[in-house]
Amino acid sequence: MTGRINLYGLDRNAMEALFVEQGLQPFRGRQMMKWIYHQGEDNFARMTDLPRTTRQWLEDNACLEVPDVVAHNESRDGTVKWVLDAGEDNYVETVLIPEKGRNTLCVSSQIGCMLDCSFCSTGKQGFSANLPASAIVGQLVLANRFLSQRGENVTNVVLMGMGEPLLNYDAVLPATNVMLDDLAFGISKRRVTISTAGVVPGINRMVESTDVALAVSLHAPDDDLRNELVPINRKYPISELMEACQRYVRHLGDRRKLVIEYTLIHGVNDSLEQAKQLAKLLRPLRCKINLIPFNPFPGSGYERPDPAVVYRFQTCLMNNGYTTMLRTTRGEDIDAACGQLVGRVQDRTRRQERYARKLGREIPTVQLAAES
Ligand code: SAH
Repeated sequence: MTGRINLYGLDRNAMEALFVEQGLQPFRGRQMMKWIYHQGEDNFARMTDLPRTTRQWLEDNACLEVPDVVAHNESRDGTVKWVLDAGEDNYVETVLIPEKGRNTLCVSSQIGCMLDCSFCSTGKQGFSANLPASAIVGQLVLANRFLSQRGENVTNVVLMGMGEPLLNYDAVLPATNVMLDDLAFGISKRRVTISTAGVVPGINRMVESTDVALAVSLHAPDDDLRNELVPINRKYPISELMEACQRYVRHLGDRRKLVIEYTLIHGVNDSLEQAKQLAKLLRPLRCKINLIPFNPFPGSGYERPDPAVVYRFQTCLMNNGYTTMLRTTRGEDIDAACGQLVGRVQDRTRRQERYARKLGREIPTVQLAAES
């Protein structure tokens, strides 16, 4: 509702400050967090240990709203994708990946993305807006409501859905604070991962403000290729990115590792030579490597490498001493795999025009994923 403050967007500090502004003690903020996240209460009238006048003030000025679910798709492999209404004809996607003993939620941080990585279909739809913190937390609330029917909850969160989290850090920071807070979701800092295409100032801000896990989408061992695949590399080249990664790893301490993500694209970045170059580049960094075979989408112009090529790349990294995971593709039948998330909207063309005008550049002509 317009004008009302959505309490899902407030971390503990902000929640305490809200109550202090109303002339109350900070502990009222903590009480509120417990009502919301431990009791799952979203009706202020039922929060009976708050003063009556405060409850009234909340009813008039606050809300607890999560985005509306427009579509809910379940994949044959158990992956669940929700399409959420982000307002003003905008839609974002959230993906739940259930695995043995854990439930990972892949959360979106922006509506679209402005980084335009050449192999990512989210990038092809352009950027519409930042999500507020409440809509980032709201994705977790929705997934937990779904999982509670099975007596389960979200155990891991990765900010690897739509958008670049470090270009919306003012919302991502409070949202991740809520994920970590014992008064809210209480997820371990090792199980909340911010993934970035390499926004160096954002990584520097993380050093000052959080200690969640960090994944960096590298995708190329040299600047020439990375400029092409991940255009933000022109602004923050590999050497600067590696320095920022070093700072973050030092900040994490206690032997925690950074995650390097590398999408393998046939004939582009998947040669043995490039694997060796990557091993050399990453030598000074305490990291593990996540390989993601490219997930095709119509009009991408790229292909997934043969399994033998993927195996050769992985083996080279492992022989160089890196823990190297191969990310198996999940939810392909519902377009929920990495880089396949697009906010499908009816008037996408119009929205692209608006976006193109905003950027002052040509309307993207790339073929987007087929409508379902
Ligand atoms: N902007 C952030 C988070 C979103 S992307 C980032 O760049 O890290 C999450 C991961 O999926 C990134 O590593 C991204 O490079 C990868 N990805 C994007 N498109 C892909 C595709 N088509 N196939 C495989 N991985 C892809």
